[in-house]
Amino acid sequence: MPLPLLDSKLPDVGTSIFSVMTQLAQECGAINLAQGFPDYDPPLPLREALARHILTDGHQQYAPMPGLPRLREAISQKTARVYGVPAPDPATEITITSGATEALYAVLAAVVRPHDEVLILEPAYDLYGPAVRLQGGVPVYVSLAPPTFQPDWNRVAAALTPRTRLVLLNTPHNPTGAVLTPADWATLADLLRPTRALLLSDEVYEHMVFDGAPHASALQHPELRERAFVLSSFGKTYHATGWKVGYCVAPAALSAELRRVHQFVTFSVSTPTQHALADVLPDTSLYDSLPAFYQQKRDLFRELLTGTGFELLPVAGGYFQVVGYRALAPQEDDVSFARRLTREAGVAVVPLSAFYHNGHDHQLVRFCFAKQEATLRAAAARLRQL
Ligand code: PMP
Ligand code: GLN
Repeated sequence: MPLPLLDSKLPDVGTSIFSVMTQLAQECGAINLAQGFPDYDPPLPLREALARHILTDGHQQYAPMPGLPRLREAISQKTARVYGVPAPDPATEITITSGATEALYAVLAAVVRPHDEVLILEPAYDLYGPAVRLQGGVPVYVSLAPPTFQPDWNRVAAALTPRTRLVLLNTPHNPTGAVLTPADWATLADLLRPTRALLLSDEVYEHMVFDGAPHASALQHPELRERAFVLSSFGKTYHATGWKVGYCVAPAALSAELRRVHQFVTFSVSTPTQHALADVLPDTSLYDSLPAFYQQKRDLFRELLTGTGFELLPVAGGYFQVVGYRALAPQEDDVSFARRLTREAGVAVVPLSAFYHNGHDHQLVRFCFAKQEATLRAAAARLRQL
């Protein structure tokens, strides 16, 4: 037998579920509520700004490696305003990345050494575990229990060991919509105090928290902030997932290590795009309006699903609705149900087992409600025929 030329580093990992379900949706002509992206465009002033900067002489070459100074300055001011915290230093504490994806990867590459443990709450965004393993790290999974998927901090405490290098959290949480509170952060701070573990807080859905609650950021806890990398994504905030710009706020010493990696992963992020974002970021109304904008979508979608037989789990933040389908298909596993829903009902969803390293099946699927009202209504009409 010929020797394989390459021994895969991730032999058990297939193509991301988001690509798989989007492709299936396209093949079936299904409405794609699977992959998380809006079917509406970024605010016009932002797109006009990008067009302007594309046409501006001198804005076409490499941006500075950590990001355009004027964009980092705008992020610094926004962070102080939104979270009521001391402004992060744009020179040393803010790094612009190719989406939150690159920030996650670069932080993990900067921090995790072989055999280091990284604590991950499951279900979890699909890149976390594989990206840890690519660094030789060991993901240690703590499960979140339905229907609320709130962390059980006793279980987190029990999972911490002297090898724990990093705790990776996500709030608002993809896929469940659970959010952390200031009390959660305070508990985590108590747990981490005697350890050397750092915190990676994925807050890409920071502007999608509902029912009057503010988003509680790790940046607001002074002690956690000293050991935290906090991530955001302009893809989420400006309905621009295809622009792939995100950023990381972290203390100078941590940011320096992140930048050591970032400079070799991508060096720098698209210059005209950063200028455009810097132009609109001071317009606070663009993000202050997001909680109400998304809450209306959440409420409409939940109302439309009432009476369909789906069990609606609570959604405190983010732009996903998790549902149980046991009343409709008691014996069916979630992958089979998601594929059948896509083919037969014409509505694509993501099976929640894709967010578990061992494919654990709770018979739950995830809908993305970041869609125009007409799209949500059309999808619900199809689902009502089930
Ligand atoms: N983290 C989470 C929890 C996400 O849902 C996403 C969205 N794709 C990302 C990170 C990646 O963000 P970006 O699109 O900015 O790379
Ligand atoms: N974050 C999005 C989701 O959860 C998709 C990201 C992607 O397709 N890589 O659906």
